[in-house]
Amino acid sequence: MTLITVGSLAFDTIETPFGKAEKIVGGAATYITLAASYFHSPIQLVSVIGEDFSPEMWEEFKKRNVNLEGVEIRKGEKSFFWHGKYGMDLNTRDTLVTELNVLANFSPKIPDSYQGSDYLMLGNLDPKVQRSVIEQMKRRPSIIAMDTMNFWIENVRDEVLKTIRQTDILIINDEEARLLAEDHSLARAANKILNMGPKYLVIKKGEHGALLFDKTNVFFAPALPLEEVFDPTGAGDSFAGGLIGYIAKTGKLNFENLKNAVIYGSVIASFCVEEFGPQRLVSLTPLEIRERYKAFTSLTSFNTFHLF
Ligand code: AMP
Repeated sequence: MTLITVGSLAFDTIETPFGKAEKIVGGAATYITLAASYFHSPIQLVSVIGEDFSPEMWEEFKKRNVNLEGVEIRKGEKSFFWHGKYGMDLNTRDTLVTELNVLANFSPKIPDSYQGSDYLMLGNLDPKVQRSVIEQMKRRPSIIAMDTMNFWIENVRDEVLKTIRQTDILIINDEEARLLAEDHSLARAANKILNMGPKYLVIKKGEHGALLFDKTNVFFAPALPLEEVFDPTGAGDSFAGGLIGYIAKTGKLNFENLKNAVIYGSVIASFCVEEFGPQRLVSLTPLEIRERYKAFTSLTSFNTFHLF
């Protein structure tokens, strides 16, 4: 049973009200893969980098039994670079620089050794690129999850819809859900999106938690009220990585199991924001995950007492 993760491997410069980190390792696939590695092994990574990518992170992936055969290394070229700046409340973020570099004409090639994989997590990328991964799989993975962003929904909506149609779980934030459904009501938007094809929809609401929908059920997972949020970069990706990692570990796709997957996704995301970049995801221990899972449980448990 293997899990394929797809997405950017990058360098990021991040500015928050607490400081600035220059050219640190980032990228959606970095966060997704590190997060998923706490739950499932082996992972097969699909991405593209230049010659400059971090040897330390490369070794970290290997240590975690991540197969890197599907990562194309372009000689003499530079890895994707992104520079973001957060506002005082850490909820708003401006992209100051995006240098696509190797990502500009990325055309992933799935190695033979990745064939037969059971789980696929498509990180935020051009929807055509995401679909090309699905199309190269000789046998469709039994569970396909996907993330996307405003940029693609606004610019290549039809391509996004085609890719969504082929996925089982769509993971997006509230703003993206409203944009995709063209509806301000989140509950109505969720219904419309489920009619676009995915069996399950997860809507992330940042510090306000996440909602899980299928056609008949809704579940809400809170975010842990953290005293210190240092850097929200990668929170969404580590949420997705934790979620798909948990599903790959348990092998079950049903609403009850997805509730736990959403909680584990929230647990991992709550660690991710504690330090700049993916640092905290590297240093995490299974015991810390277990303790925070307990904190999530007590955050939402109460004795029911029917007065009426
Ligand atoms: P998140 O905070 O979860 O939305 O993800 C942040 C990560 O996404 C950063 O590490 C960036 O390197 C990466 N990223 C930003 N823009 C893009 C893009 N257009 N395509 C792929 N990855 C991106």
